[in-house]
Amino acid sequence: MISRSLAAPSIQLRAALFAVLGVAATVGALSGVSALGAWIAEPPAVATVAEDASPPATELEPPTPAYVFDAPLPGRVIDSPFGLRQMPWEENGRLHQGVDIAAPAGAPVRVSADGVVKRTGVSPTYGRFVEVMHKGGMTTLYAHLRAPARGVKAGAYVRRGATVAYVGSSGRSTGSHLHFEIRKGDKPLNPAFFLGRSFAEAEDLPIRAAGRVSRKVRLAVVSKWPEGVKGAPAARTKSGRVRARMPVSEG
Ligand SMILES: [Zn+2]
Repeated sequence: MISRSLAAPSIQLRAALFAVLGVAATVGALSGVSALGAWIAEPPAVATVAEDASPPATELEPPTPAYVFDAPLPGRVIDSPFGLRQMPWEENGRLHQGVDIAAPAGAPVRVSADGVVKRTGVSPTYGRFVEVMHKGGMTTLYAHLRAPARGVKAGAYVRRGATVAYVGSSGRSTGSHLHFEIRKGDKPLNPAFFLGRSFAEAEDLPIRAAGRVSRKVRLAVVSKWPEGVKGAPAARTKSGRVRARMPVSEG
């Protein structure tokens, strides 16, 4: 009885095995032995799809960056950086809240990023200026202008690269140049961290790094001594620029 009960499943197993071999023989007869061998050697097609989970190459396009900042005067260099600076007629250094880019009067100033004009106006220090709002609480400011461009007024939508103003030397300026600022809220940021760069998301913006101010105070070299400022230049360079030395205070 015991041997029979053990033998019975064994016979069933053999029957099943013969059935599989029979199917295999039929497949082999239909499609050839070499085809069957290839089917066994290569992993099943289903496994290949499961392992390769990445989407097709056509779907791997980078996302459109949320923030793109272009230079307001393409091809021109920053000749006075962001940071603590001391003018020749000042006793102490103070924060230069943007960058200065020298350019001839009348050169077109391009808006750095898509935005909406927040305001245009005139200030004793900035002279004629244009301020533009961007998303994420960012603003850019263009100062010492000759004039804003036609149609540039509060509420106007401006697309990145559009001419918003023309370079001048209005306000407390020491020669024809653009004073350019980038802020997040009220906080002035170093534009060098943004110009010519793009950022995928708001979290990628280098707000902390760009907000840091070095303790080093630079002595500014200027082109002209502004009217209404006491004193006189200590020295003039060959190019007519003013150079003066004063005790540098640590900011
Ligand atoms: Zn400046």
